[in-house]
Amino acid sequence: MIPNDEAAPNGSRLDELLAGYAAGTLSPHLHSLVAAHLYLKPESRSFVRAMEQIGAQALEDMPACAVADRDRKLAAIFESAERVEPRPAAPVCSVMPPPLCAVAGKRVSDIPWRFKLPGVREFRLPDQAGTEATLYWIKPGKTIPSHTHEGSEVTLVLRGGFSDTTGHYMRGDIAIADPEIDHHPRADEGEDCICFAVTDAPLRLTGPLARFVRRIVGH
Ligand code: ZN
Repeated sequence: MIPNDEAAPNGSRLDELLAGYAAGTLSPHLHSLVAAHLYLKPESRSFVRAMEQIGAQALEDMPACAVADRDRKLAAIFESAERVEPRPAAPVCSVMPPPLCAVAGKRVSDIPWRFKLPGVREFRLPDQAGTEATLYWIKPGKTIPSHTHEGSEVTLVLRGGFSDTTGHYMRGDIAIADPEIDHHPRADEGEDCICFAVTDAPLRLTGPLARFVRRIVGH
């Protein structure tokens, strides 16, 4: 298991995400998120390499009749490994690693942030393969309203940090929320929190202010 932070709140879920990256099965937005995580957290790269080696060995052990498929899968694994490295054409940004700059097409300082809630701004990327990807800029100490998820929500911290019911996350950490989790992430005091969140289903707001907030944020 790769430690995500001291508490390692995601544990096996993070391992599953990294394994999906190694196998090349993630959606494009999630692939970019994990590539950025690997850029910020070199310690996770060894796990991905190990998964790739296991996959390659499994392909080596396959019967000869599966050679054509084996070559295709090996090519996908090698291509995936190459994508760990930053793309040279991406804008240089001190907050977003190159894999995210490449999909955003701009630096954080050039992003046209939109108001979402007091103290919270967002920048939504085009949907891809049924997933939504959003950059959030949260003022110190501000809280995202309580919500659950119909699907999963994977969040990569790019600046500052935040806490929710699952743990505390800082730059490079990945938080994973699923339909069982009802949370209201709160940004750390003292520094703006910027993060990149990928969801495969809309958020569902909960709590006493849900109806009011839903009108504001449009969910
Ligand atoms: Zn959430």
